[in-house]
Amino acid sequence: MAAPTYDWRNPGPAPTEGPLADTFGRVAGDLRISVIDKCNLRCTYCMPAEGLPWLEKDEILTVDEIDRLARLFHSLGVREFKITGGEPTVRRELPEIVRRVCALEGVDVSITTNGLLLDRLAGPLREAGLRRVTVSCDSLLSHRYAEMTRRDAFDKVSEGLEAARAAGLDPIKINCVVIRGTNDDEAVDFARLAREGGYDVRFIEYMPLDAEKTWERDKVVPAEETLAAVSAAFDLVPVAQDSPQPATSFRFADGAPGALGFIPSVTNPFCESCNRMRVTAEGAFRVCLFALEETDLRAALRSGADDPAVERMIREALWHKWPGHKINHPDFVRPDRSMSMIGG
Ligand code: SAM
Ligand code: SF4
Repeated sequence: MAAPTYDWRNPGPAPTEGPLADTFGRVAGDLRISVIDKCNLRCTYCMPAEGLPWLEKDEILTVDEIDRLARLFHSLGVREFKITGGEPTVRRELPEIVRRVCALEGVDVSITTNGLLLDRLAGPLREAGLRRVTVSCDSLLSHRYAEMTRRDAFDKVSEGLEAARAAGLDPIKINCVVIRGTNDDEAVDFARLAREGGYDVRFIEYMPLDAEKTWERDKVVPAEETLAAVSAAFDLVPVAQDSPQPATSFRFADGAPGALGFIPSVTNPFCESCNRMRVTAEGAFRVCLFALEETDLRAALRSGADDPAVERMIREALWHKWPGHKINHPDFVRPDRSMSMIGG
């Protein structure tokens, strides 16, 4: 008789205590919280020119609701928090949200932002307890930046990066989505920026999460190719990593400041060691960036569920986490939500 095969879709009840784990033994310790769906840019690889149907104010989690969820996840062992969006700096209460999450013991908190509003927010965010920041920027040519984001705002990003430095945020990471035929000729320029400015530049493969669904595999520049282009210009030394990381990281062999990371999200996804979870702006819990199912935590919070009940929902959802997204399989199905609605 054939041995029964394990079915992750039908794994039996989730554990009620112990680490926040799935059936593949992955322990989730990283939570990305989207604090708003709106954005002040319209990046072509993320959002349509006309924007998206925005959530009503009362549909978005309140500061207290975010605080409660952050505490609950913290009590379950989560120590890495990323505040994202949409564009998190567009939310007026961002410093207060950051202050509350940073107040949790032993946490590493970061925000991912397009940087446009950092000129006025870097200081208040630092005062709220933020130590580091990730700024997204996909071109160092202002006309190309304007084409890619549909806003002529490159100078604002530069000012934002300077403000982040002046406020003492460190490290400052720069996320660059590399798209074939659009900005793939700029990898060496970004590496030079990392050296000269002491930034940690991370090259990210273009993922099928654009709202307009114009993603094509041919537009993906494999991380290996970007690494080869940069390595031809600079001698790089790999950085040893204690645990599996999505990015392969390098420093400059000549001791110049800055670092580089290459994230093969499409060509070599890191699903086997993925420890990430997400809560969208309206409180939907997602156990994978590409998840097709989500758990409505806002409904639970607003219907008076106590923490143990919400914890059970979280554990149950995570227990059903799939082995990995099927981005490289013919039966891959895109999620309905695009990147800004998930919280990257
Ligand atoms: N608005 C903020 C920003 O741009 O940094 C935070 C939210 S944004 C959705 C988070 C990250 O997702 C950004 O670094 C952005 O470049 C990245 N992103 C958006 N769409 C993407 C796509 N289709 N493929 C890969 N990365 C994407
Ligand atoms: Fe806005 Fe970030 Fe999406 Fe660009 S990538 S449209 S900045 S949410």
